[in-house]
Amino acid sequence: MKGWYFIIDAEKCENCHNCFLACKDEHVNNDWTPITKPMAKKGRSWIEIKGRERGQYPFIDVCYLPVPCMHCDNAPCIRVAKNGAVYKRKDGIVIIDPSLSKEQKELVEACPYNAITWNEELKIPQKCTFCAHLLDEGWKTTRCVQACPTGALSIYYAEEAEIKEKAQTEGLQNYKANLNSKPRVFYKNLHLFTKNFLGGSLFTIRGGIEECLEADA
Ligand code: SF4
Ligand code: SF4
Repeated sequence: MKGWYFIIDAEKCENCHNCFLACKDEHVNNDWTPITKPMAKKGRSWIEIKGRERGQYPFIDVCYLPVPCMHCDNAPCIRVAKNGAVYKRKDGIVIIDPSLSKEQKELVEACPYNAITWNEELKIPQKCTFCAHLLDEGWKTTRCVQACPTGALSIYYAEEAEIKEKAQTEGLQNYKANLNSKPRVFYKNLHLFTKNFLGGSLFTIRGGIEECLEADA
């Protein structure tokens, strides 16, 4: 059966936070029950931009990684939730029911990706809904994807076999795959965020003066 996946290119994210703002714009003061209640006015958005600096001056590389809920196929949050308060839809999207999840603050700790926020005013846990209320109306994209000016974010509607083949041919990877939660978010160029970075320069000494070899190239 076909379902939704995120594909995020770590190389294209410029840390502009347009996705973060679009998510807030869509969800603060808007009640999308039964998918979700309004997002808290203050605090985190449902997509976090993680940043990592690698190397040392003058060899520096900076990478940003947008991290929404992973809509895991083996989701720890679903296992921890009482009364079926977190469920997976047929299209793969994981939803926290805003009525059934009331007072279940423990769900915040249940997510190994730190994707669940606590709405103190409404006393409910909340997270990225994959903009399911829009997809259900026929939208072909989500607000964060629509707002991304570099094309770092995209969504994909596919069979599991299709996404697996795409992952193999394009080198897509899951973030923290060792958690075994089977995320539906795939990253291009994840190594820019997770691996170390080596930089250096080669020089020679001519007549007692240091010269960069690259200048000879
Ligand atoms: S990322 Fe966290 S909140 Fe999202 S489905 Fe996985 S365990 Fe649940
Ligand atoms: S898919 Fe929708 S709810 Fe999820 S991070 Fe993007 S804008 Fe927010």
